[in-house]
Amino acid sequence: MQKGKQIYEGKAKKVYQTDSADILIQEFKDDATAFDATKRGTIRGKGVINNTISKILFELLESKGIETHFIKQLDERQMLIKSVEIIPLEVTMRNIVAGGMSKLLGIDEGLVLKEPVLEYHYKNDALHDPLINEYHAKALGLATDEELDFIERRSFEINNILKAFFEHKNLILVDFKLEFGRHKGRVLLADEISPDTCRFWDKETREKLDKDRFRRDMGNVEEAYQEVLKRLTR
Ligand code: 5GP
Repeated sequence: MQKGKQIYEGKAKKVYQTDSADILIQEFKDDATAFDATKRGTIRGKGVINNTISKILFELLESKGIETHFIKQLDERQMLIKSVEIIPLEVTMRNIVAGGMSKLLGIDEGLVLKEPVLEYHYKNDALHDPLINEYHAKALGLATDEELDFIERRSFEINNILKAFFEHKNLILVDFKLEFGRHKGRVLLADEISPDTCRFWDKETREKLDKDRFRRDMGNVEEAYQEVLKRLTR
């Protein structure tokens, strides 16, 4: 597969064309941003780790019948993906209160929710990805009724699969963000699943092992990412 022109550069990834129209290369960078890119930095080796963690999790989900954009890992930093039209929604699944939900509702971090919470955020950096509901999404034409039904069902399934998988690795899946895209009339799970897009707490100590260490200047950021990868591969 020939690597072609770069068609996108985001905060954590670049995307390139290939010689096939509906196949792209997704490359993971070490760059890290937070708070709508007002905080910037580098997490050494993050791209390599997030590429591998995403590969492991996309393969796990595919094995359970969840269609994703993942095709195969190419090398340390790159994976081959199906080209999708990203649906401009960030789908957040929460099992434990943290981050945005803690702030929005004034609830201390750590409250175990009686059931998982799904949130839609409108994917728009300038507006700080505002919280919306499915009526906004439909009325604004961001996604159809059928797509939202599908995304909702899929997101709860993905949460069940990932929660059980991480539990087995001594990690609590606190919350995470998903993005979906359209490909040849189907809706696929896209983007990445990594410590950049999930909150992981150690099951025993509740130590944070994710991007919150960068967001909150807690130190040992690289080590935390490495620890998650180590637990997933042993
Ligand atoms: P919160 O809304 O609490 O800030 O984030 C909830 C979960 O979604 C966290 O696991 C967080 O990492 C992820 N998340 C939400 N928005 C973004 C985003 O714009 N970029 C990344 N990388 N993750 C996000």
